[in-house]
Amino acid sequence: MKQSHIVIIGGGYAGLTTLVKLQKLIKGEEARITLVNKNPYHYESTWLHEVSAGSISAQDASYPIEPLINSKKTTFIQDTVVSVHADENKVTLSNQTLDYDYLVFSLGFESESFGIKGLKEHTQSITSLESAIHIHQTLQEKVKAYGDKQDFTHPLTIVVGGGGFTGIEFLGELTNTLPALCRTHGVDPTHVKVICVEHAPTILPGFDEKLVQHATALLEKKGVEFKNGTAIKECFADKLLVTHGEDEEHLPADMVIWSAGVRGSSITDEAGLEAARGKVKVDEYLRSPSYSNVFVIGDCSLIIDPKSNRPYPPTAQISMQQGVCAAQNIVAMVRNQSPKHSFVFHNKGTVCSLGHGNGIGVVFGKKIKGKTAGFMKKVIDNRALFIVGGIPLVFKKGKF
Ligand code: FAD
Ligand code: NAD
Repeated sequence: MKQSHIVIIGGGYAGLTTLVKLQKLIKGEEARITLVNKNPYHYESTWLHEVSAGSISAQDASYPIEPLINSKKTTFIQDTVVSVHADENKVTLSNQTLDYDYLVFSLGFESESFGIKGLKEHTQSITSLESAIHIHQTLQEKVKAYGDKQDFTHPLTIVVGGGGFTGIEFLGELTNTLPALCRTHGVDPTHVKVICVEHAPTILPGFDEKLVQHATALLEKKGVEFKNGTAIKECFADKLLVTHGEDEEHLPADMVIWSAGVRGSSITDEAGLEAARGKVKVDEYLRSPSYSNVFVIGDCSLIIDPKSNRPYPPTAQISMQQGVCAAQNIVAMVRNQSPKHSFVFHNKGTVCSLGHGNGIGVVFGKKIKGKTAGFMKKVIDNRALFIVGGIPLVFKKGKF
């Protein structure tokens, strides 16, 4: 039997879960695996708001990929994927081209700009470890410059655009770290304004109403001003154009964190995989509709929730479950069998952290808040580490 070559592109939640499962399932010489990732490390995307606010370091939120590699089965290539040619079974990297028999496309998410003018030039988004480091550096620079100027006639204004889970989790952390940062630079924290601009009538649209009220009240107490029902329409160097119904307003802004939505990797656009906004509507086995040897998982995939008839939100939770399923189906195909595992999402719930071990959530259908939710968040974070790297990784990087 010819040895199959499985190429995994992207070492995030989806890619690494696939890798770990494949390394367990592949027997002898039946297949070799190549994992390609931009960096020699994996970062926990779900912790990036903490790095952005400075609650944890970039090192805390990442770990090297090499120890996860079983060198008898897998080759790790640190490189950037430039393009995918599904019609030729090829992946082009910055430094070489790879041929594959099976491809796992797991390049993750990018920020969605919705074509808003000035957004790319004047805002920052939490999309990668590098971007999170950059946001934290900008935050430090802005507070320092404000303190150095000694002109406190106007507040220093930080705007978070989009009150979804990313925006709210970031605000939870930011309101914890900001007072100390201000003190370091001789700034009275009351001179710093933190505003959340959310298009929907409430933050966390669609989430449990009572829990949303709890989160709103808690963050307001920590100094956040919410502008709900307000949309960002254009961004400038020092202000935003926002609309509230028919009304337009210019909102002064010294720093803007854009967290108003994500799309899949733009590499999908030219890959011939029938993607829309970087997302491929996959079949029940998680394959591209046009190429049965290409599995698309994680934030680049789109699956409809049969209950709501709407796409499942892109999360680490679904990405990791997809990784396991994709690995099982690839192994079946390597063995000349039909893929056996239809993907079924087992939703265990959602927890939104609000900083300082606080949060809100719905877990296994039960509403939780406060320290209970904060504790659950740690359990979820540690579980993700356990799935990929077992107990040793939990001890190394876990949250206790
Ligand atoms: P990623 O985890 O983004 O991994 C993609 C990988 O591909 C990265 O390693 C990247 O470096 C690499 N890559 C990208 N482009 C290239 C390229 N061209 N060449 C080579 N490598 C490349 N979800 C939850 O379930 N629970 C949470 O609590 C939660 N919290 C979140 C908090 C924040 C701040 C954010 C931003 C997201 C959160 N999410 C959460 C969503 C979750 O992070 C994503 O759904 C998840 O990361 C998607 O996994 P993935 O494997 O598809 O992509
Ligand atoms: P999102 O799409 O969930 O939320 C974006 C928010 O921005 C929405 O509330 C939307 O109404 C608002 N918005 C859109 N356009 C706007 C505009 N022009 N002006 C003002 N507001 C605007 O995006 P996200 O929060 O980045 O989350 C991305 C994915 O990651 C989601 O699937 C989410 O569930 C997941 N996530 C999960 C967690 C968690 O489970 N704790 C944490 C972070 C992210």
